[in-house]
Amino acid sequence: MQNTFDAIVIGSGISGGWAAKELTEKGLTTLVLERGRDVKHLVDYPTTSLMPYEFEHRGRLTQEIQEANPIASRCYAFREDALHFFVKDAEHPYIQEKPFDWIRGYQVGGKSLLWARQTQRWSDFDFEGPVRDGFAVDWPIRYADLAPWYSHVERFAGIAGNRDGLDSLPDGDFLPAWPLNIVEDHFKNTLKQKFNTRHLISARAAHLSQPQPIHLEQGRAKCQNRVLCQRGCPFGGYFSSNASTLPWAAKTGKLTLRPHSVVHSIIYDEKKGKATGVRVIDTQTKQEIVYNARIIFVNAAALNTNLILLNSTSGRFPQGLGNDNGLLGKYIAFHNYSATISAEYEGYLNYTTDGRNPAGGGYVPRFRNLYKQETDFLRGYAAGFNAHRSTSNPRPDAIGEDWKKQLLNPQPGLWRVGSHMMGETIPKATNFIALDKEQKDDWGVPLLRVNVAYDENDEKMRRDYHEQFTAMFAAAGFTNIKTHITPRNPGLDIHEMGGVRMGHDPKTSLLNKWNQLHACSNVFVTDGACMTSTATQNPSLTYMALTARAANHAMEELKKGNL
Ligand SMILES: Cc1cc2nc3c(=O)[nH]c(=O)nc-3n(C[C@H](O)[C@H](O)[C@H](O)COP(=O)(O)OP(=O)(O)OC[C@H]3O[C@@H](n4cnc5c(N)ncnc54)[C@H](O)[C@@H]3O)c2cc1C
Ligand code: SF4
Repeated sequence: MQNTFDAIVIGSGISGGWAAKELTEKGLTTLVLERGRDVKHLVDYPTTSLMPYEFEHRGRLTQEIQEANPIASRCYAFREDALHFFVKDAEHPYIQEKPFDWIRGYQVGGKSLLWARQTQRWSDFDFEGPVRDGFAVDWPIRYADLAPWYSHVERFAGIAGNRDGLDSLPDGDFLPAWPLNIVEDHFKNTLKQKFNTRHLISARAAHLSQPQPIHLEQGRAKCQNRVLCQRGCPFGGYFSSNASTLPWAAKTGKLTLRPHSVVHSIIYDEKKGKATGVRVIDTQTKQEIVYNARIIFVNAAALNTNLILLNSTSGRFPQGLGNDNGLLGKYIAFHNYSATISAEYEGYLNYTTDGRNPAGGGYVPRFRNLYKQETDFLRGYAAGFNAHRSTSNPRPDAIGEDWKKQLLNPQPGLWRVGSHMMGETIPKATNFIALDKEQKDDWGVPLLRVNVAYDENDEKMRRDYHEQFTAMFAAAGFTNIKTHITPRNPGLDIHEMGGVRMGHDPKTSLLNKWNQLHACSNVFVTDGACMTSTATQNPSLTYMALTARAANHAMEELKKGNL
């Protein structure tokens, strides 16, 4: 296998897949290095068409698996049908200085096989947040810089959504949205009538509701509403690297995909003043191999990207690649998903279906502190909302024939409604990750120490969410309203971000407005590590857009001879 390429991409998940697509389409020979095994679209989805009774444990986890994987087991998607796409706790240890649930998918496609496909654009309320509210540093870009790239990735990935015309959540290039069900519509109308600045919209999601020629060309077909997406979709109905960007990149003839390849570090050449390649450990042979390239995209997912840069030390960069200001690994942030609310609705009992909506129902965009500061906490939260018709359980006193009959003839119960908070967290220097000085993994890479926690702002936000949603639920006539604090550790939102943040100033940030390391311009970081702040939106669409934009810039710079 050749060792020199035009570009190297580290990681084959959502952002790495996009880097591979964009760079190969521009004619660059591109090596994608992936630490996990290969997962070929369609071929390597072993559970995709299994019926519930074909699973040994009917889809549930055994006690043994739960005990062996306390961290992964906290993720709702870690079930018998998708176990094989998750990192198991014992295989890849890390050190929790404070409790942190690090959920990972180490395989070709990364977490793109597992994600819930929720995709919303950021607005200037988000990009202007740090400078307006005085935290982190100013983003070096605004919505207008990213808008064309959002369109670019939306058209290719296929995003279902409505054009809702909201300031806080810009519309995109959408396929038709999945409709809300009757009770979700009822809540939407309540908000419209009684809370005029609050909205419920159909959740925007990366599903092909109406495939376009570009999707058929990828070999993907219309989503069939199976809602078994975490198994890998036999129709390519949702966007994953495996179904979309990686096969597209392979068709150019410019892609080399190398699974079983742990990137240990990036090699910096002091004479040339740039990175020249990467050191890789082959996980099967344990052999170290060096690959060279003119540009390097680091897309190993936020924390692993930090880890690789911290581990890339040299005479010029003793604290890690690009880390002149000592901020690498700091200002880690995430999303605050620690509150939910549930209730019942006694109306619409003549409707009996909830419609199997792969987009998951409705989405309430952020409404707090948008136009002015109105609470005692900074920023705000978005929320998911959905309604489904419950089914009755057999009566507790049922036995024998009676019990069997009741099981076989479940009667519809009341509508159940629920919402979960998706709060912005404030990046802080005290939320950081670092390398352990002694302990290493099987490939000689130092273990990561994670030091990340919620703060008072998160608690106040949670309280406000409960108060506001209780009022909104009551206004909709929902009953039996219950607020819940879900005792979850940071990390379980699976939206970890930061550590290699973008900014104007090399003294206070690591990356410039094109996602290049200020101090090593041929290294690009375009996954969650680059995020200066977190906003409330699900982040992956923004990583995709930033990646496509950075790849385009890289090509322009290569043509000018600047890299
Ligand atoms: C259950 C679940 C639900 C989610 N729902 C949503 C959602 O609805 N919307 C949303 O926006 N996001 C969602 N996410 C998060 C989303 O999956 C991530 O934001 C996204 O996958 C990040 O893309 P990435 O390219 O940075 O990382 P990944 O997709 O994780 O890819 C990183 C890749 O890098 C590889 N890698 C790591 N270290 C190395 C190394 N040293 N050498 C070589 N390769 C390496 C990994 O094996 C992996 O394949 C969800 C995640 C999960 C698990
Ligand atoms: S809901 Fe759509 S994307 Fe998900 S598995 Fe079914 S067909 Fe595939």
